[in-house]
Amino acid sequence: MSDENPGIDAVAPPWIADQSESLLAQRGHAWLLQGPSGLGQYALALSLVRAWLCEHPTAQGACGYCGSCHAIAVRTHADLCVLMPETEMLALGWPLSEKAQTEIDDKKRKPSREIRVEAMRDAVEFSQRTSARGRGKAVLVYPAERMNTITANALLKTLEEPPGDVRFVLASEAAHQLLPTIRSRCLGHSMQWPSETASLSWLQAQGASPADARIWLRASGGRPSDALSLARSGRDAKSWALFPKAMAQGDVSAVQNWAPPDLIDALQKLCHDMMATAMQALPRFFQSADLPKVPAMPPLVQWSKSLMASARTAEHPFNPGLMLESLVSQAQNALNSGR
Ligand SMILES: [Zn+2]
Repeated sequence: MSDENPGIDAVAPPWIADQSESLLAQRGHAWLLQGPSGLGQYALALSLVRAWLCEHPTAQGACGYCGSCHAIAVRTHADLCVLMPETEMLALGWPLSEKAQTEIDDKKRKPSREIRVEAMRDAVEFSQRTSARGRGKAVLVYPAERMNTITANALLKTLEEPPGDVRFVLASEAAHQLLPTIRSRCLGHSMQWPSETASLSWLQAQGASPADARIWLRASGGRPSDALSLARSGRDAKSWALFPKAMAQGDVSAVQNWAPPDLIDALQKLCHDMMATAMQALPRFFQSADLPKVPAMPPLVQWSKSLMASARTAEHPFNPGLMLESLVSQAQNALNSGR
């Protein structure tokens, strides 16, 4: 997304801009932005570091046109250190270290899904250097829960004895997984849920039709950033309504081009909604009318556990085609058992 257009950073959704303004009005050298995924943790973190480093910041945040704002837009700011898993860096258009890029280009290894110890060492060294542009320095960590114990401890040392002019923003989608000592060193901010109206009009401003915006917002459980990823995934919004019954019928052709992690995500949502319906609660991701008849609860619970186990191995399946088939047949069994 933003790798195609670095300038897109400048256009934060209104609810992110509001939160940014309120955090900028407070003092703090380390923020922890927390909440479930899809609420814009990364956008808010970026908005904060842009404002901290900007040459002409206002109460609303960065100016958007100074040398510092430009350097961030083109991903070459000497006073900004971005600590992310390599997979995220690549997806969001941030350059890797020369060494890491060469190792990946030479196929010595795949991009890491964790924040690597080497990257953390570079970040510690970065925080001890003097600021190049004289507006201090910033370290952005996202998603912070992807640090292992070694990297987290290295960061903790720097947080405990911050070298003067460096500020931190940790953005997390699972803050409970962070070391308590890290959490206690940061000022916490819980991400706000935007209203449905605000989310829908933002999605439409990003190019989704009103009908698609509504479907994808529902499919993402009301999380606008996730809804935008779905809208841009190339999938047909209408197929979301047909998905539950296709699964009950074991129709693999309905999902044949899907990546296994996407299918697992959709099946987890379906499983959630079936369990909710079984307990007389409202479904969250699908419309009631689109769901198949409710099966017995025990198979649903079993299915939910299997999906969680699959989610852990879905990134590198032995055979993606076989994995799709087995996930669909498992869904069909669970949805048709004992009713
Ligand atoms: Zn600026």
